[in-house]
Amino acid sequence: MSDLRELYQEVILDHYRKPRNFTVLRDATGEGVGHNPLCGDRVRVWVKIGDEGVIEDVAFQGEGCAISTASASLMTEAVKGKTVDEAEDLFARFQSMLTGDDGEHPDLGKLEALAGVREYPIRVKCATLAWHTLHAALARRAADAGTGGVVSTEMS
Ligand code: ZN
Repeated sequence: MSDLRELYQEVILDHYRKPRNFTVLRDATGEGVGHNPLCGDRVRVWVKIGDEGVIEDVAFQGEGCAISTASASLMTEAVKGKTVDEAEDLFARFQSMLTGDDGEHPDLGKLEALAGVREYPIRVKCATLAWHTLHAALARRAADAGTGGVVSTEMS
């Protein structure tokens, strides 16, 4: 178990130091901003949804703690190429891994690196901020695509 824990630490540090998809998406179809005042984490997420509802591209920018940055980076890798529904399902299972009663997390792949966060409730908001912001970016498209509005998510 301690080996696994070290591996998870490595994944988190790697994604914190070299965040993936850390860029501005110019041709995004949806955009969300999120803020976690408890920790000061800020994140902006862009998505590009193609035909068939597939997330063709996703990117983020922001400033925050290691957990929030690593989680956002891991999230972009996890949802790219998935449909909107699959991404929402992943979010639900990710959240259940961190806050659910049993802590079960089937087939979450690299996202399981963040499983240890459930032992630190205050950190759960850091880990889920990017996902809530993704959700806002996806919802905005459905609600008022083309209006250019950005959905803001304030964690409380
Ligand atoms: Zn944080």
